[in-house]
Amino acid sequence: MSGGLFDRWRTAPTPLPEPQVPPAVGLQLWLDDQARVQRLAGPLRTLLALPGQAGGRLHDYLLRHSWVVLEGEPADWQGQPLDLDFHTAVGQALHTRGWLLRQAQGWMLQLFDIGDLLREQRWDRQRPLLGEIGHALRECGAARLVQTTEAQLQRLAEHWQARSLRLLLREADGWRHYASSEGAWPWPADRTLQARLQAWPAQGLVEANDDLELLALCGGVSLFLVPCRLGQDTEAWLLCAGAPQLPPADMALALLRTLVEPLLVRHRRQQLHEQAAHLDDLQQQLGAGWWQWPAQGDLQLDPTLAAALELPRRASEQQWLACLHPADREPAQLALAQARDGQALSLNVRVLGNDVQAPPRWLHWAGHGRGGQVRGFLLDISALKAQEQQAGAARARLENLIASSPAVIYVQRYAEGALHSEFFSASLAPVLGWAMDGEQARQPGLAVHPQDRALWLERTRSLLRDGQVRCRYRLRDQRGGYHWILDEARLLRDDLGQPLEVVGLWLDVSEASEAAERMRQSEERYRVLVEDSPAMICRYRPDLTLLFGNRPLADYLGCTPAQLEGADLGQWLSDGQREGFVQRLQALTPEHPVSCAEICLQLPGREHAWWVWADRGLFDDHGRLLEVQAVGRDNTEVRRSQQQLLQGAKMATLGELATGLVHEINQPLNVMRMAVANTLKRLDNGAADPAYLVDKLRRIEAQVERAARLVEHMRVYGRRSALEHVPFAAWDAVAGAQALLEEGLRGKGVALRLECADAQPRVLGHQDQLEQVLINLLVNARDALLEQGRAQPWIRVRQVLEAQCLCLLVDDNAGGIDPHLHARIFEPFFTTKPAGVGTGLGLSVSHGIVAHMGGRLTVSNAGEGACFRIELPLHSTS
Ligand code: ADP
Repeated sequence: MSGGLFDRWRTAPTPLPEPQVPPAVGLQLWLDDQARVQRLAGPLRTLLALPGQAGGRLHDYLLRHSWVVLEGEPADWQGQPLDLDFHTAVGQALHTRGWLLRQAQGWMLQLFDIGDLLREQRWDRQRPLLGEIGHALRECGAARLVQTTEAQLQRLAEHWQARSLRLLLREADGWRHYASSEGAWPWPADRTLQARLQAWPAQGLVEANDDLELLALCGGVSLFLVPCRLGQDTEAWLLCAGAPQLPPADMALALLRTLVEPLLVRHRRQQLHEQAAHLDDLQQQLGAGWWQWPAQGDLQLDPTLAAALELPRRASEQQWLACLHPADREPAQLALAQARDGQALSLNVRVLGNDVQAPPRWLHWAGHGRGGQVRGFLLDISALKAQEQQAGAARARLENLIASSPAVIYVQRYAEGALHSEFFSASLAPVLGWAMDGEQARQPGLAVHPQDRALWLERTRSLLRDGQVRCRYRLRDQRGGYHWILDEARLLRDDLGQPLEVVGLWLDVSEASEAAERMRQSEERYRVLVEDSPAMICRYRPDLTLLFGNRPLADYLGCTPAQLEGADLGQWLSDGQREGFVQRLQALTPEHPVSCAEICLQLPGREHAWWVWADRGLFDDHGRLLEVQAVGRDNTEVRRSQQQLLQGAKMATLGELATGLVHEINQPLNVMRMAVANTLKRLDNGAADPAYLVDKLRRIEAQVERAARLVEHMRVYGRRSALEHVPFAAWDAVAGAQALLEEGLRGKGVALRLECADAQPRVLGHQDQLEQVLINLLVNARDALLEQGRAQPWIRVRQVLEAQCLCLLVDDNAGGIDPHLHARIFEPFFTTKPAGVGTGLGLSVSHGIVAHMGGRLTVSNAGEGACFRIELPLHSTS
């Protein structure tokens, strides 16, 4: 090979002038016996790295590996060919072969350039390698084709001492990278390569025996493009980067063909396989496949399709028709006959599977005939048919719904900014009595109530503006009556957003509207009733926050009804009252939602107010109290009268006791009078020693205290009761009554026996009132005893504790009360005593007091007389 790109010496320096010696060939070196260079001659000497320096060692001119050839001295090298590689000025080695010749003085080494010879030998050695590469590519598994190609490129790169090899294959849309050797190398961007390769002249490389293309020097490294032409077309490119030298162009092309040919065959086959697999996959997904029917013979089917239809790949006409739905067989036969005559075939048929239960599959059978043979494809359209059927059924349902709907469904078409009636459902006649094609149906606006016309116009405007509307107006029916219509409409637009039509419905809401109006009026009446009622009416939450209060309530509480909303009802109650109030609310249940009580309030500017208060709880589905409705009545006056009555009764009792009390006070006075008289007598006698005087004075002091205690108790007893209940020990009331009565009873010979338990539990109420009850009972017992004239009259008072209550039992031995009178003795003014003696109020008042304390007063006959029982609830301190 010669010339061309690989002319290694193209960059050789300018030759030196020829020496005056016979013309020399190749390279001649004259050496002395120690192998020192004496002189150089021949054209090749100009290439050497040390051309002009005679006298140097021969070794200095040589590449290191050539030193082994020159063992010993020149005399030893005679008679054998010597292969020596020299350093050159251009970097590449100069390969030479020659002989050592004896000279008169020293030696002459005659050498010739054998570079080209070596190169050809080297490329020749690569032929078996390419054979191996081709074999490897033919034999490897399809899945490993790319890896195998990369491995073979790697081998080639090592042989060519290239940094990197890259193989591009032709694809429909350009050149595609297929494989590359391992070496990393900055390849030009794919786009640059593509452009460069597209611009490559289609013809001429091999014919012209041209050089391989040097694409560029990338990063100082040469980049070669080797085209691979099979037939007329270039099928592949091998890109070779950084090879010091490549084989000659024709050899490189041939080598590449060896590499690429088997690869391309396999690669194309693999692509075909993949395409076929994709096609199969697609056909399977679509349920489609080809078929053909020769002029003579059986129907041939795509294998996948045949399997799906449960038919053989070759089916007779009978088999084909048998698998069709009976109703489709005749149309199928006719269509096939027409197709054989050259007409297009397009028919939807049902195919019956082996499973008779399964619904038939729908297939679109299409094809065309030529020369008696028909071919085409079958497409599974079951899903489409199913959707079509569903849509049909849905449409039928919708139409049915529209026809039977109580609402009128309508469609209005949009044209030039206005809406024109286009459709009304059948319910138009029953609802409004309008004819579908009547004047009113065409222009509903004319039937709108005169007061609602503005609403109607606004409905159309907002429908076009917002796309939907919901409004109410009145429409006149055929007979002239008006109906309240709820109109809900929606505007439909086309793809460009232009209004198309309005779909809406009219619902006759006359009844609902009238009911709402009735409800409003009724609510108004109740509101007036509540507002004008003299009773206090309010609604409040379980936490006592007021939701509503009427005017009387606001007046009592000294504010306006508006101020009541959100106010705390508890602010007008004392702590004790509030606690009792909340406890009462907690006791409300859905079964017993009502509770009544008398509550005491502290009102602004007034001392106290007593209200009779009735609550009704409202509960949710879970039985939780949501709010309370309450009605109240001011009971303060009644309460005051009651108190006055009680006070009067108390004073009456005191008056009644006056005789006993006089005796009670007389007693200490008598004792004191006696003591004073005796003392004075002693003093007169002069026998009053101090000890005697002290004794007398002490006795007088004790009597004074006794009288003072009595007077003090009468004073306390006569005082008005406190407003609110307070806890006190019940036995203290017994002791109080004893203090007032005991002396008087004793004077009348009646024994008072008190039996108290150790514990003295407390009850809630007013001690003076309970004391008054006890005094009444004791006085009644005394009167009965005196009337009966018993030998040893006694009255007994006992305290008994029961589960939740305390009992005070007052009995006597006066013979009891006639059982017929038991129910009557608690009536006011009932008395068996002579006129002017009994008032008949004692037991009645006592009954009221005990009831007010939450207890009971009952009577029975026990043992020797009557037994009165006062039951009182115990006061819990918790
Ligand atoms: P008054 O004492 O003024 O008659 P009360 O209401 O206190 O009015 O008593 C009504 C009646 O009950 C008495 O008139 C009496 O007949 C009867 N009564 C009350 N306590 C007793 C008793 N311990 N034994 C017998 N009768 C009694």
